[in-house]
Amino acid sequence: MIGVVGGGIAGLAAAYRLRQHGHEVQVFEATEDVGGLAAVYETAGDDIEKFYHHLSKSEETIVELAEELGLGDSLDWRIGKNAYYVDGVVHPLDTAWQIAAYPHMSVYDKFRLGMLTQGIDVRGGIPDFDAYDDLSEYEHVTIRDFVVEHTTQGVYDNFVDPLLDGKFGDRKGDISAAWFLGRVRFRGERDLLRGEILGYFDGGFRPLLDALVDAVGRENITTGARVTELETDGDAVGSMTVETETGRETHDVDAAVVAAMPNVLEDLTGYECDIEFQGAVCGLATMSESLMDTYWLNVAHDAPFGSLIEHTNFVPKERYGGQHLLYVASYVQGPHEDLWQMSDEEVEDVWFDEIASMFPQFDRSAVEEFRIARNPRAGPIYERGYLDMVVPYDLSDEVADGVYYAGMASAAQYPERSLNGGIVAGYECADRIVESTRADTQVASPSTDD
Ligand SMILES: Cc1cc2nc3c(=O)[nH]c(=O)nc-3n(C[C@H](O)[C@H](O)[C@H](O)COP(=O)(O)OP(=O)(O)OC[C@H]3O[C@@H](n4cnc5c(N)ncnc54)[C@H](O)[C@@H]3O)c2cc1C
Repeated sequence: MIGVVGGGIAGLAAAYRLRQHGHEVQVFEATEDVGGLAAVYETAGDDIEKFYHHLSKSEETIVELAEELGLGDSLDWRIGKNAYYVDGVVHPLDTAWQIAAYPHMSVYDKFRLGMLTQGIDVRGGIPDFDAYDDLSEYEHVTIRDFVVEHTTQGVYDNFVDPLLDGKFGDRKGDISAAWFLGRVRFRGERDLLRGEILGYFDGGFRPLLDALVDAVGRENITTGARVTELETDGDAVGSMTVETETGRETHDVDAAVVAAMPNVLEDLTGYECDIEFQGAVCGLATMSESLMDTYWLNVAHDAPFGSLIEHTNFVPKERYGGQHLLYVASYVQGPHEDLWQMSDEEVEDVWFDEIASMFPQFDRSAVEEFRIARNPRAGPIYERGYLDMVVPYDLSDEVADGVYYAGMASAAQYPERSLNGGIVAGYECADRIVESTRADTQVASPSTDD
């Protein structure tokens, strides 16, 4: 039996792929429900993710998985309108005309930024079309140095720097230009007449998780089961100890996939990963009125949140019983930050006071419900040299034969962590297990032709 630690998308994807190859699998999930960071709230209609989620056009594995699970037709590609809030004004930045009209960058700044987003280096006057293909060249360069050298100071000061403030706060100077370039590429497709194209399933991501659970087999998933030990037998993993409400159980395993954060891997195996994580505080307001016209609003000034995301400007409010849903989202770089220390009531007050000052027409009585989700490890801090810290899928050299890692510190979750990345990481581990079992079988039963 293959034991999987964690019933987030990565653990479920690993189990699904292993089951497809005929392996006996058991997924152990510490909480009462699967889904991990893609957990949901109920609304008056469809469920909605506690932390905002959508797909980018560059993500293919999740689309293939959805098709395999019979959900291909329920994936909609919609326009997710983007805007930037600067000095009291919301500037839409979807179409070529809106970008041309944006007043906080010169025409030349916009040209240089446009070339960079297309992957074209125009320094020296001769365009180089494949300039940024090799991201590893920029792994040890800061974003500021890179953007100023490859575009202009104006692009950095008036566009990139405020976005980095919102995403990485006081860690922004540590982040690598390779991450920045990868992220620009990752954002995927843009319709110059309408805006960015993003994916979302009918009913959100919950139906995908449910279909995955069905495909793995509910009997092969145990919730409320925290894996507390991985025991090795000689050089190989031999068993897994799990704590449930009723006590401790030990299961013999032929291999183990750890599909959880690297601190869990360290607790179970001693493997130390140096990647640091940022936390997230994310509120979801259920409102009787809409706040703004855009889906995603980045905020340029030093607000107590990084972005406002009005989900029902992306997916129609009719799917949620006619109510408007607004995320208020902020990353924190550590538990020392004020926002992390505040109670939910304090966070709510601070956030809605700021929203009221940004949008004078905002009426707080329109907020019918406000729910806050927090997670101390919401995403990696993609600092310089990050790729050297990534945890390998196969940990046979570092830990013991049969130990695999599919969590957020794996290579598939770079340059941005995503559900797609989780699925890829799960598959990468499963494929290695399938391959190694095949090799073992061949060694055990040599061909009669020999
Ligand atoms: C604010 C925010 C916004 C995001 N936006 C997007 C987006 O727009 N699009 C997108 O694709 N992705 C987005 N993501 C990322 C996406 O949610 C994650 O990449 C993905 O869910 C990670 O899945 P995972 O299975 O690797 O980890 P997790 O979801 O963290 O799952 C790990 C599971 O392991 C369990 N576990 C931990 N320890 C143990 C143990 N000892 N024993 C048993 N179980 C254990 C946990 O309870 C958890 O369920 C976002 C994430 C956040 C936080």
